[in-house]
Amino acid sequence: MKIFRFRDVLPELPNIVFRRRFKFNFELLPYEVKGLSLKKIGNFFLAGLNQFLLPSKPLGYPVIAQVEPTNFCNLSCPLCLTTSETGSRPRSVLSFNIFKNFIDEVGDYLLLIVLWNWGEPFLNPDIFRIIAYAKSKNILVHTSTNGNVKFDNEKAEKLVDSGLDSLVFAVDGATQETYSKYRKGGNLELVCENIRTIVRAKREKGCETPRLNLRFIVMKHNEKELPLINQLAEELQVDFLTLRALAIAAHLGENLVSTFSPDNPRYRGYRDNTDNSQGEETPFTCMRPWKRITLGALGEIISCEYDYKDRHSFGNLNTEKSPISIWKGAIAKEFRKKFNLGNNDFFLCRDCIYKNMVVDDCTIEVVPLNWVCWEQ
Ligand code: SF4
Repeated sequence: MKIFRFRDVLPELPNIVFRRRFKFNFELLPYEVKGLSLKKIGNFFLAGLNQFLLPSKPLGYPVIAQVEPTNFCNLSCPLCLTTSETGSRPRSVLSFNIFKNFIDEVGDYLLLIVLWNWGEPFLNPDIFRIIAYAKSKNILVHTSTNGNVKFDNEKAEKLVDSGLDSLVFAVDGATQETYSKYRKGGNLELVCENIRTIVRAKREKGCETPRLNLRFIVMKHNEKELPLINQLAEELQVDFLTLRALAIAAHLGENLVSTFSPDNPRYRGYRDNTDNSQGEETPFTCMRPWKRITLGALGEIISCEYDYKDRHSFGNLNTEKSPISIWKGAIAKEFRKKFNLGNNDFFLCRDCIYKNMVVDDCTIEVVPLNWVCWEQ
């Protein structure tokens, strides 16, 4: 997914400079950060130069962080690397103190935290403290859940009080039978009950956030349930329903691809060599090592979330204090020097799910339900 491209930022310049607010789309959904400090604005422009200059030591501070609250999960989805690569890294929960140390250095510059990676974020007992601390630095926080961790009223209230901006519920079926073909070990009724509890807590507190996004990955076994998932999303009163293309890491093999790829080409976000209707191959460019800082559950700073084995770890906050010294340090510099915009032989990039994409974003379609768009 491409974010903060020059052509998208350009029309927003008057808003950023004069109104100190910035609207942007992420995964095709609208976001807005208000009350930007001069530090954030100055760094946004400085860091933007990295896209053009590609220095081995980036200018300024990162504006997006990907943070992994846990690296394990309570479900076993067949195409998820948390399932297939269990054991690549020791199981870990990101400690609040490591996160605080990270935010204390980069929080004044960040616009957005994507709070997930390889694991279920709500298995971290400190998740609400983590969100609230990020929110205290005026950072948009976006996270995702499989919805199989129970939300009672108290937990739902804590979630709303944390200030979280948006929450994805990954629901890939409108019936238990279809849902559990992919979300192995999952209970659809529990997910729906959790959503209802959170919607109620938001109403009682008069809060519009977190915006709830029911996200449906379209696959062969569930595409017949698209009309039903629309009904379910309306009934649950979530803010958005989003339809998403399946992401398949190449090393998982052709068998899984043919088992799960949807028949309808509209929902195949990836190049299929047997289908000529998908158009010309477009050159692939990746600027992730310049645009993001990624913090893993073990305290490691890595080049990209797809380095799920920590083969290219830049350093670790358990042994070094400063995330920026790691992100700009010797190992990271050497990595960027060799990084040929993703078209290289690094372990993580060989398998990169973004390489064969024929769409701009994994999210193919957004159905706004209860979200009232902000004024222009
Ligand atoms: S795996 Fe490599 S090419 Fe793909 S997004 Fe990560 S850094 Fe970029």
